[in-house]
Amino acid sequence: MTNSPDSPWIVLKFGGTSVSSVTNWKSVAGVLRSRLEAGLRPVVVHSALSGITDRLEQLLEKALSGDWEPVMAQIEQRHRDLASDLGIGELPELDQYFTELRRTASGIHLIGEVSDRLRARVMATGELMATTLGAAFLASEGLDVHWLDARSLLEATERPGASERASFLSAACNFEPDPALQQRLADIGKVFVTQGFIARDARGDTVLLGRGGSDTSGAYLAAKLGARQFEIWTDVPGMFTANPHTVPSARLLRSLDYDEAQEISSSGAKVLHPRCILPVKQYAIPLSVHSTVMPEVEGTVVTATGGDGDARVKAVCTK
Ligand code: ASP
Ligand code: MG
Repeated sequence: MTNSPDSPWIVLKFGGTSVSSVTNWKSVAGVLRSRLEAGLRPVVVHSALSGITDRLEQLLEKALSGDWEPVMAQIEQRHRDLASDLGIGELPELDQYFTELRRTASGIHLIGEVSDRLRARVMATGELMATTLGAAFLASEGLDVHWLDARSLLEATERPGASERASFLSAACNFEPDPALQQRLADIGKVFVTQGFIARDARGDTVLLGRGGSDTSGAYLAAKLGARQFEIWTDVPGMFTANPHTVPSARLLRSLDYDEAQEISSSGAKVLHPRCILPVKQYAIPLSVHSTVMPEVEGTVVTATGGDGDARVKAVCTK
């Protein structure tokens, strides 16, 4: 197995705001170019456009009463607008997702209920649509990019006794290092784009990793690929002593160890999902946090030896 510090793989996770504007997408392309120049193989994992997962939840609710077309039209328009801003023209795959969503909404109206299995499939469409746009844009920027279906990469762990709801909507995945996957990707290309938040179960059905689960998807892939680094790209350049949006004197935490990062994220800080620490901690993969709007700022780095070793309160979170 590849030793992480020499590994060519690097996993970059971009959140919803990072993938919702042309400016941010230009920044993503720039970051990928710099990683390629450094000889690395970047795997981009990204979320749905900001607000779309909530809209898809609304679509499911509205489908029951039959009044779902206005929400569906909003979902479609958001993606069409971004596609046109990105200058990528018609994408037949995107039209297929819209058609499928409409067909499913009518079906739900007819049947009068939504199963957890169907809910997972509908909500997964947010990430599928967004990554279709993202990959098309990166290709138009001249990058040799390959779109991957995350359901062919991540498989949910069987949890006997788990409720159907938990199995479909907040699954956990296996993340043992996977040399076969590393080989498969190395054979296809240099830059990859895939979805956060979604995976498959043993029957091949679509499952979700829980709201905010894209961070966890990135961490699973970093572990499976034996990545050199796992980067989380968001709208703030790291973890702070308090929320920088509400406490202007908040200080950026430059370095943390895995347990400190776990504690801060578990106590309500939104920057990292608490479930994304274990996979990187287990394989000692450094995790760094960056801002897509200020890509040059060095954010928080989380490693095994990270923290400064004293027991002072590092951060204050409000819930
Ligand atoms: N799009 C999903 C959500 O809004 C997953 C994520 O963004 O991490 O929860
Ligand atoms: Mg998040």
